[in-house]
Amino acid sequence: MPIGNRTAYGVLAALVIAYPLVPGAADRTTGALSHWGTVCAVASLAVFVFGVVRNRPASRTPWVGLGAFLVLWMLGDLAYDLAGTHPVLSPADGFYVAGAVAGIAALLAMNQRRLVDAPRDALIESGMVALIAAIAAWLFIVEYAIDAGGPALGALGRSVVVFYPLVNVVALFLVARLLFSGGRNIAALLLGAAFICGLAADGAYAYFQQMGSFSDANVVAADTLWLAMYALIAAATLHPSMVSLTEPTRGSSTRTSWQLATAGIALLAIPTLFAAAGLLGHTLHTIEFFLASATVIPLVLWRLLHLHRWVTATHDQLERREHYFRQLAQQSSDSYFVLDEQGIIRDMSPGATRMLGVHDDVHGQQLTAVVGDDGEHLATALAGIRTLAGMSTTVEAPLPGSDGSIRWIEARATNMLDDATVRGIVVNVHDISLRKHALAEVERQSLHDPLTGLPNRALLRDRMERVLVRRRQHGNDVVVVFCGLDNFMDVNESLGHDRGDDVLRTVADRLVHAVASSDTIARLGGDEFAALIEVDDVNDQQAIELAESIRQAATSPIRLGGLSVAVTASVGVAIASADDANTVDDLLRIADSALAAAKARGRDQVVRYQPSMRQSDVVHMELADELRSAVARNELALHYQPIFDLSTGAIVGLEALARWNHPTRGLLPPRRFIPIAEQSGSIIDVGTWVLRRTCEAAATFDDNLLISVNLAPRQLRDPDIVATIRGLLDATGLEPSRLALELTESALIGNFDEAVTRLRAISRLGVKIAIDDFGVGFASIDYLRRFPTDILKIDASYVSSITEAGDVSALVRGLLGLGRTLDLITIAEGIETSPQLAALQREGCAYGQGFILERAVSEHQIRELLGTPPSPTV
Ligand code: C2E
Ligand code: MG
Ligand code: MG
Repeated sequence: MPIGNRTAYGVLAALVIAYPLVPGAADRTTGALSHWGTVCAVASLAVFVFGVVRNRPASRTPWVGLGAFLVLWMLGDLAYDLAGTHPVLSPADGFYVAGAVAGIAALLAMNQRRLVDAPRDALIESGMVALIAAIAAWLFIVEYAIDAGGPALGALGRSVVVFYPLVNVVALFLVARLLFSGGRNIAALLLGAAFICGLAADGAYAYFQQMGSFSDANVVAADTLWLAMYALIAAATLHPSMVSLTEPTRGSSTRTSWQLATAGIALLAIPTLFAAAGLLGHTLHTIEFFLASATVIPLVLWRLLHLHRWVTATHDQLERREHYFRQLAQQSSDSYFVLDEQGIIRDMSPGATRMLGVHDDVHGQQLTAVVGDDGEHLATALAGIRTLAGMSTTVEAPLPGSDGSIRWIEARATNMLDDATVRGIVVNVHDISLRKHALAEVERQSLHDPLTGLPNRALLRDRMERVLVRRRQHGNDVVVVFCGLDNFMDVNESLGHDRGDDVLRTVADRLVHAVASSDTIARLGGDEFAALIEVDDVNDQQAIELAESIRQAATSPIRLGGLSVAVTASVGVAIASADDANTVDDLLRIADSALAAAKARGRDQVVRYQPSMRQSDVVHMELADELRSAVARNELALHYQPIFDLSTGAIVGLEALARWNHPTRGLLPPRRFIPIAEQSGSIIDVGTWVLRRTCEAAATFDDNLLISVNLAPRQLRDPDIVATIRGLLDATGLEPSRLALELTESALIGNFDEAVTRLRAISRLGVKIAIDDFGVGFASIDYLRRFPTDILKIDASYVSSITEAGDVSALVRGLLGLGRTLDLITIAEGIETSPQLAALQREGCAYGQGFILERAVSEHQIRELLGTPPSPTV
């Protein structure tokens, strides 16, 4: 409540209380109400107006009506004062009657607005209040005034005597309706108090009129009560709750305790009022008592009947709800137990024991004992909350089922010992087996390879972690064996993925049987497996033997249906102690290096890790391994560098240069993989692909272009090389004379005669032979004579020796002269600067290639450069 309200209430109360108490305040010698009284009335009116303005009720009309009541009655007071004489009916009554009409209309309007949806039964309480007020008015005002006035009072006098108390009774009835419908409302209470004061004032006035003395205490009492009525109406208007008096209530009915209290007070009021009237010396009539009782008692009975019906209905409703919840509990998959403080079962839901797998009646037993061996978790949890009211705890426990399966329950215990309706520890039990099994399955799947069911890399790491911890504690040793199937891609491609999967499953199974059950076999992915073996003590030889047994298990032929599939395996071995590998990562890395080494060394073998297998070797080995499938995975590409006629500037040929679109390392230049391919043997596959692709593309290029392809030394040692080239020329229809094969001098090392024979055969096909990087090797002029050489490619290092001033060394001149002597086409490689280009032109070098002319570019770009439409095969 705002401070302003308290002050206003204080001022109003002080003014009213001071009126009878402060000497002279009630001095009426100058008028009916005295100056003090006028101040009091005007202050009430001011507070009333302030209240309406400040609280802003949505509907103002009823408040305007109430304000009119106040103003008219205050005017009535003024007229009464001014008149001097006081007949039964004076002009002042005109104001009072008009005010009464305005006041009643205002209260009716409030009723109409507030009680839109309110329950009708509040009429009973309002009726009782009005009846008691009416009985009091009759006994203390009307009957007394009529008796005292006697026949002289006349009909008009009697009407006046009846009218004012009646207005108060009706007003009280209307205020009671506001009060008993809807929630507690201070403004309505204050209004009720105001009209009780009004009624009392009527009584006091009746007395003083009969006594006929203005100086009588009755006069002061009547005035004080009237002023109190004004002040209380003002106070009601000032209170914020006045707003809801003109707004519809939410229809909440009056509390039962109020209804009973009102009925009791109404019953008691009859004898009390009659006794009081008797004490005051009023003549009492039996009929009055009878009529009073006959009107009030039925209302009280009606209320009691009403309450009885309500109690019965509420009881029924509660029973139905209890039944409803009991059904829910019975049908629910959850169960509950209610335990006493000692954990003894006092109550439980019907399916509760079934959930625990118990069939006997367990009432009166310890729940923890019923749960069995696993009850100790629950016992600890219950002990934890036993003394803590309102606390909850949740435990999960496994329960062995009768069929040997394990069921999981989740028990949530809540201490409700303090709750008057429960007075126990409530344990809600929920079967979480499904959730548990699902979680276990998810966990299993996340740690196992779905194809073979073997642990995956994550689980292997976890086990390695544990094994290494044990090694630190007990000093035993750990061997890690990585095993990769060598030709699994071929199996997949030739037999299909289903058969491929069968092979992997079979190998997995064999590996598991090749090691002790305490060891771990895991699938690392693709065709790679790992074995984690714990041994007391191991030397290199023993570890290799272990690995060898694993390799043999993987490699013995696999029967699939009617087929026998042979796979070979490369195996790498690492030993924690010997290789000084103390972490999981160390061990994994070195075992991987050893496996890569096994693959690089030609596969199908066991390789023990050596510290010399450093990272670069590892990369080398990885590349070697990946290169094997690069052709199949279509990762290779060709770039073309144009060869120019240095005198005309026209493009006369293209050199095809291989590139590898590595899936993780990006576009690799040939120096990164051609030597590896040569070492590992995959150069045959790579070289054949390059040849085929070049021939296909060349067939679609300009007829006059010479297409150069680099041929690795090892390709020349391939007995099938001539047949391959012939086949490709036939297949693509490429004119053989448009193809040139570039060989470095190193191609001629080794079996020289064989090389010469092959080159002659190739030359006979019509294909041109070029000596690449001429001048850096050991090729002698004698070689050039014996070889069917057509083209001499002068190595870039000679070209780079040409100075900025264009000085050409004697060596370069000699090489160019040699070409001319032997009638060979000379191509200068690696021309990077204009002086180099100019010098070569001056020296009569026929052709050249180099960055200053054009770099090696993609097939698409070279077509753009040549103006050739894209090949349909591209
Ligand atoms: P190469 O046969 O001597 O090829 C010429 C190399 O010199 C190309 O390098 C080319 O891009 C580069 N080059 C061209 N002009 C210039 C220049 O002005 N300055 C410099 N610094 N370099 C220039 P690329 O493509 O990296 O090839 C390197 C080598 O790899 C080739 O030398 C060749 O021996 C080999 N190679 C390329 N493709 C194949 C292939 O398909 N099979 C075989 N066996 N070897 C290949
Ligand atoms: Mg070349
Ligand atoms: Mg070269």
